[in-house]
Amino acid sequence: MNSKLLLILVFILSFSSTSFAGAKKWITIGKDASSMSLQKFNSSMKELKSNSDISIIEIDEDDVNSLSHEMHEQFNRCGGFIFHDSLEAAEKELNNIGNKSFATKSIFADYAINQNDIVRPLVAAVTANNIKNTIEKLSTFNNRYYKSQTGVASQKFVKETWEGLVSGRSDAKVEYFQHRAWAQPSVILTITGSKSPKEVIVIGGHADSIAGYFGGSRARAPGADDNASGISTITEVIRVLVAGNYQPDKTIKFMGYAAEEVGLRGSKEIAQSFNASNANVIGVMQLDMTNFNGSDLDIVMMTDFTNANQNAFIGNIIDEYVSGVSWGYDKCGYACSDHASWTNAGFPASMPFEAKKRDMNRNIHTSRDTISQSRNTASHAAKFARMAVAFAVELDK
Ligand SMILES: [Zn+2]
Repeated sequence: MNSKLLLILVFILSFSSTSFAGAKKWITIGKDASSMSLQKFNSSMKELKSNSDISIIEIDEDDVNSLSHEMHEQFNRCGGFIFHDSLEAAEKELNNIGNKSFATKSIFADYAINQNDIVRPLVAAVTANNIKNTIEKLSTFNNRYYKSQTGVASQKFVKETWEGLVSGRSDAKVEYFQHRAWAQPSVILTITGSKSPKEVIVIGGHADSIAGYFGGSRARAPGADDNASGISTITEVIRVLVAGNYQPDKTIKFMGYAAEEVGLRGSKEIAQSFNASNANVIGVMQLDMTNFNGSDLDIVMMTDFTNANQNAFIGNIIDEYVSGVSWGYDKCGYACSDHASWTNAGFPASMPFEAKKRDMNRNIHTSRDTISQSRNTASHAAKFARMAVAFAVELDK
């Protein structure tokens, strides 16, 4: 074939397969936020259906970044909406939320607190400086945006860091969870339980970052608090468990989700795959923003779209093991982070947060989200690492 013709053909083909403006997708969003979105984006968004809690909005995929920005600016939500590939999926979510009829999977969680001898030395080994170092390294990527090359490279860094921590363990492995629709993978570290491996404990947080109204691949998004802090807290939990040669009875999985900032997309695919395979996830802890100490309360448990029994259990864990740390409750709003993906998939999830909503870090989703906003320490995040270590061990019995 004539090379000029070939070039033209390639051009046409690549143009038609690119998802440029006009690619219609669907989101579900809290009723409180839907009217703002419709006013702001009236040309490109259309409300299709709603109930008293949430709306289904048809959206141009290219407007998701701007919506993410507005959700943060106006509603103080890291997430705030769930992205759906099909209208059917959005309708299913609408029905779920409307009926409050989340399918509840079999759960064998024992919420007694009685692993004192094992937990205390592990908790004492948590070191704030390790968390700080990981936050700083993650912040050096220009961004960790789900569609950017640096967002892929940052996940390679997380994978290799976690592999380094468990290199001596035959019961542990680190894998990518690949997502078909975008480049950035999620990362999952599994320590397989020796007695009841089918019972699974999950500690996760999102590993992506985003900044600015147009978001995008080039915007500087250090995301030190949102959410290098959560990933670095998880990294310290892994280090402490391995250094203490802790070998779990049940399976413990640590997760760094891709693409949270654009509609909880990474965690949604993972949680739904666990649901589809009938996995028995007995407890999920979401760590999204752990290092900005903005409230009189140190750790704030979000009550909405989370499991009340597990929330109370985590409160008891803090009282027992994280001395001098206060905690309380607040509300986070619809789809505010990845715990919603797990709740929607029928699993008990909790979201311990860095502050009350009104006192949270105001610099997230900007180039100013650096560790200097937390006075260059990770002492606040260390409280979350102590809590998460105790949570893992106390559920593992
Ligand atoms: Zn976040």
